[in-house]
Amino acid sequence: MAYFITDDCKDLIKDIRNFCDNEMKEQVYEAEKLGYSDEEAADEIIMEILGGIQEMGIGTLPIPEESGGPGLCRIDRAAIIEEISKYDSGIAMTFMANELALDSVEIAGTPEQKERCYEILGEGGYGAFCLTEPNAGCDVSNASTTAVKDGDDYILNGSKCFITNGTIADFYVVYAITDKSVPAAKGGYTAFLIEKGTKGLSAGSIENKMGIRNSHTSDVVLEDCRVPASCILGEVGKGFQVAMGTLDIARVWCGIAALGVAQRAIDESVEYVKQRVQFGKPLAKNEVIQFKIADMQMKTEAARQMCAYALTLIDRGENFSLAAAEAKCLAGDAAMAVATEAVQIHGGYGYSREYPVEKLMRDAKIFQIFEGTNEIQRLVVGRATIGKI
Ligand SMILES: Cc1cc2nc3c(=O)[nH]c(=O)nc-3n(C[C@H](O)[C@H](O)[C@H](O)COP(=O)(O)OP(=O)(O)OC[C@H]3O[C@@H](n4cnc5c(N)ncnc54)[C@H](O)[C@@H]3O)c2cc1C
Repeated sequence: MAYFITDDCKDLIKDIRNFCDNEMKEQVYEAEKLGYSDEEAADEIIMEILGGIQEMGIGTLPIPEESGGPGLCRIDRAAIIEEISKYDSGIAMTFMANELALDSVEIAGTPEQKERCYEILGEGGYGAFCLTEPNAGCDVSNASTTAVKDGDDYILNGSKCFITNGTIADFYVVYAITDKSVPAAKGGYTAFLIEKGTKGLSAGSIENKMGIRNSHTSDVVLEDCRVPASCILGEVGKGFQVAMGTLDIARVWCGIAALGVAQRAIDESVEYVKQRVQFGKPLAKNEVIQFKIADMQMKTEAARQMCAYALTLIDRGENFSLAAAEAKCLAGDAAMAVATEAVQIHGGYGYSREYPVEKLMRDAKIFQIFEGTNEIQRLVVGRATIGKI
């Protein structure tokens, strides 16, 4: 994304790269390794990295300029996220989850709710978007978390799972059934904005993940969680529409973070094939290897252009749903294919934890799964392309 960015953003990107090279590149591997045996020690490293990134103002990127944000366009913000994701996509996802939670508030919140979330993010806080449940993944409408009206309040009960930032968030956007008599998509679902510390809301068990291990993923549990009606985001019964609108935007961000993984896999592979000698010459001199690198580059670049197109549509206020689904799916598939090829190019060393590409391959997989699986993106694209039957 770097070639699209404005001059304003160039210095910031340099600072980020400098920080990542010196205070993140090695540390993310250390945290990953420690995470298998000593979660607390791993988390200390992760929180230190997050703190360093926050000091550069990255947490304030989604805040509009009139509310104190830096006022960077989405392409600039994307370049920053891609850069962080090159070093660790789990860390990048922490900031993406902020965007995800905030987008629901931007879509449906009152001016007061928006300002409160900007204030939290401005102070280095985090948000969480709580939609998925054990029996409601792709089928969002099969949710069972409820919000029952009690006087002027609502009482929430249920359990959300796989929630990014679940353990560290300062505000949670929680989706709950307010009317069981109608389908979620037709008025049964409502979004709530709930702050950390609210009685009855807690982070549950932590997910032991294959990849993006440096992100915080957990259950979020609601047990008789009483909130005033002023916590409702938008209108009662309009939660499904808020969630779908949020996911449309989030898909592009997810694609951007996937690009960081793909680009790093290309960079690592290029470096490796220049120095690894077999049959008396560097691997890079073999046409088969050159073709592999070419395919990795083309897949990544095509996905990057699609993401940039989707972001431009969002910035222009035009319809971007189809472009977002295409961008997410292309970028997620590119990251997985490119990271897998990077492992192949590294041979046995690629399969070893001594080299970074095995982590990239594990990290890449998530981009075909969350923010709407790539099967669901293909359903969206297929239906839009075929039209009415
Ligand atoms: C690390 C991580 C972080 C996450 N962060 C968040 C978060 O912050 N907030 C949040 O709300 N959720 C989050 N999720 C949840 C994520 O969005 C869901 O896992 C995802 O939507 C898929 O749901 P599921 O896991 O229940 O899979 P399922 O819905 O059970 O799907 C299983 C498989 O069946 C396929 N499938 C399902 N339905 C169809 C269909 N109609 N046609 C074709 N194929 C189909 C799917 O594509 C998938 O391959 C996260 C998940 C992970 C792993």
